[in-house]
Amino acid sequence: MTRRIAMISDHASPLAILGGVDAGGQNVYVNQLSCQLAELGYEVDVFTRWDDARLPRVIEWRERIRVVHIQAGPVGMLHKEDLLDHIPEFAENTVEFMQSERMPYSIVHANFWFSGMVAMEIKRELGIPFAITFHALGRIRRQFQGANDRFPRQRELIEEEIARMADGLIAECPQDREDLVRLYDADPAKITIVPCGANLQHFHPIDQLLARQILNLNKHDRTILVVGRMVPRKGIDTVIESLSVLKDKYDTRASLIVVGGESDRPDPKKTPEIGRLQKIARKLRVHKQINWAGRHGPENLKYYYNAADIFVSTPWYEPFGLTPVESMACGTPVIGSNVGGIKYSVVDGKTGYLVPACDPETLAERLIEIFNNRKLLQYFSENGLERVKYYFTWPKVANAMVNLYEKIIANSLSQDQIYSHKISLFNLSFERIIRTMQDSLDLLRIPMVNAAGAITKAIDGGAKILICGAGGSISETRHFARELMSRFAYPDRRTTSVLPLTTDPANLSICSEDLCYEDIFSRQIEAFGRAGDVLIVVSSNGMSPAVMRALAVAREKGLLTVGFYGGNGGKAVEMTNIPLCVPSHSPEHIEEVHLHLIHTMCEMIEKEFISQSTETRNLTPTRAKM
Ligand code: UDP
Repeated sequence: MTRRIAMISDHASPLAILGGVDAGGQNVYVNQLSCQLAELGYEVDVFTRWDDARLPRVIEWRERIRVVHIQAGPVGMLHKEDLLDHIPEFAENTVEFMQSERMPYSIVHANFWFSGMVAMEIKRELGIPFAITFHALGRIRRQFQGANDRFPRQRELIEEEIARMADGLIAECPQDREDLVRLYDADPAKITIVPCGANLQHFHPIDQLLARQILNLNKHDRTILVVGRMVPRKGIDTVIESLSVLKDKYDTRASLIVVGGESDRPDPKKTPEIGRLQKIARKLRVHKQINWAGRHGPENLKYYYNAADIFVSTPWYEPFGLTPVESMACGTPVIGSNVGGIKYSVVDGKTGYLVPACDPETLAERLIEIFNNRKLLQYFSENGLERVKYYFTWPKVANAMVNLYEKIIANSLSQDQIYSHKISLFNLSFERIIRTMQDSLDLLRIPMVNAAGAITKAIDGGAKILICGAGGSISETRHFARELMSRFAYPDRRTTSVLPLTTDPANLSICSEDLCYEDIFSRQIEAFGRAGDVLIVVSSNGMSPAVMRALAVAREKGLLTVGFYGGNGGKAVEMTNIPLCVPSHSPEHIEEVHLHLIHTMCEMIEKEFISQSTETRNLTPTRAKM
C-alpha cells in the first residue's frame, strides 16, 4: 500500500507566482517537498485555500501529487492576516473531503499556524497524526513588528495548543528549535530540525559575464543582489543605507539589484514597500545605483544570482531564508543577518559573513572587504557551494522528513496496524528501488555499454585495472575486483590484471603519519598506474577528497577513468572520462544499483572475452559463488 500524505498549506499554494507579500518561501517549501516526497513513492495531496475561481477544485498536478482547493470564505484572494475567521470552514471542508476519499491518509503535514488548526481538527475527527512546520512564530513576529503585526492576538495561544497536540514539530534551524522550547514550552523530544533546501536543477553556477550579458547588466560594476518578498522586515532599507556608507566612507560605488514585488515590472502602486524604499534611496542619493527588477521565476533568478558579486539578506528575523542557500548554490557568497536560519546556513568567515541586522555600517565594512579581495570571494564561493550540496538540498530535506513521518506513523499505530505498517514499508522500499532501477536503465544503458567496451579494449591492449572507492563503496570495489579477476558467470575465461587499491591498516597508518588521508589512493596510482591503464572509482556522492585526488593523478598519468556515482555525481564527474551516475539521492539505493551495475559490467566484459575466445567449450554461464 502506498502511503498518502496530506500536506496542508492554507495560504501558500505550490502553484502561486512568487515574490509578492504573501507568496514566498512557504510556497517553495510545499512545492519542492511535495515533489521530492512523490519521487520517494509517497502520494501527496496539497490542501490549500481556493483563492482563484478559474482553478478547478482538484488538480492532478504531477505524478502522485494533487492540489486540492478548499473553500474557506469567498473564492478569491484574501490577505493571510484576514484568514482566521475562515479556518473552521477550511477544517470542516478538508475533513469532509478526506472522508469521501477511498484511501486514508497516513499523516498530515501542516504548514503555518492556520494549517495547524486544521490539522488539530483532522486529528480530533479522523485520528490522523500530524507534524507541523510553523514557518514563522507569532511571538517572534510580535517582538519585531509590535503594533504593525496585524495577526490576531489569539495566534500565540493557538500556536501553543498546536505545539502540545502535534505529534512532531519541525524546526527549520537550531534557533527555531530554541524559540519553540523557550517561547512555547514545546517538548524538546518532539522537535526535529529539518532545514530547507535549494533546487540544484534551478540554481547552479553559470559564468558571471554570461549572466550579466543575458540580463543586460554592466560587466564591470560591483554588484550586490537582494531577492525576496517586499516587506519591511526583510531589511532591504539596510542594504540601501549601506550603499550610501560605501559611497561616503569608502568612496566606492556599488550597484544594487532588487528582485521581488507584486508584479513583473516594479510598481510602487502595486508594491508600496518599493515606493518606501525608493524614497529612502532618493533621500540618500543612491537611487541611480539601484535596479528595481520586479519579480522573477527561477529560470531568470539563476542569472541574477550568478550575475551578482555578493548576495545580501539582512532581515530582522528569519525562520530559515531560502534565498541565501539559492545564492550559495550558484556560487555567489552571502552576507546575511546574524539571525534565525541565516546564521545556520551561512558560516561566518567561511561561506560569507554574518552581520547584525539593521547595521548598514558593518554591512558596508564587510562588502568592502569582499569587493577588495577576489581570493576571499572565491574561497567563500567554493565553500558555500559545498555547504549547500552537503546540507541544503531538497532530496536531503525530503529524506529527513520521511524518517520523521515514518517514526510518527509507527508511534500512532495499534499492534494490528504495526504489522500492516511493516508490510507497507516493505512494499514502499521495493517500489523505490524498482523506480531507481528503471531510471538507471534508461539513463545508463549507453554509457555502460561504452564503459564496458573501453575497459575491454584497454585490457586487450595489456592494461591493468585499478579500483578504488570511498566510504561504504570500498566493499563494492573489493567485490568488483574479485569478480573481474576470477570470474563472474563464465567458467574457463581468461583472468584480468586487477588491483583493488588498498585501505588496509598499514596503508592507513602510513598515510596518516607521513602523507594525508587524501593521498591514500593517489599514491598507489603513482606507484602502479601506467598510461593506458584503467582507474575505476566507486563513490555514491562523488565528493570524497581521496577519490578526487586519485582521479587527478590518474588524469596526469594518462589512465582511462570510469566512475560509478550517484545523483549529479558531484565534482568527480568533471574529472572522469566515463561517469555513470545513478539518478537518485538516496545513498542506499545508489549503492544497491551500483552493485547491480558492477555485476552487469562484469558480465559484459566476460561476454567480450568469450566472443574473442577460440575456446568454445563449456560456455554455459554458471553463477559459481563464494
Ligand atoms: N522568489 C521568487 N521570485 C521573486 C522573489 C522571490 O521566486 O521575485 C522566491 C525565492 O527564490 C525564494 C522564495 O521566493 O525561493 C523566498 O523565500 P525566503 O525563504 O527567502 O523568504 P520568505 O518568503 O519565506 O520570507
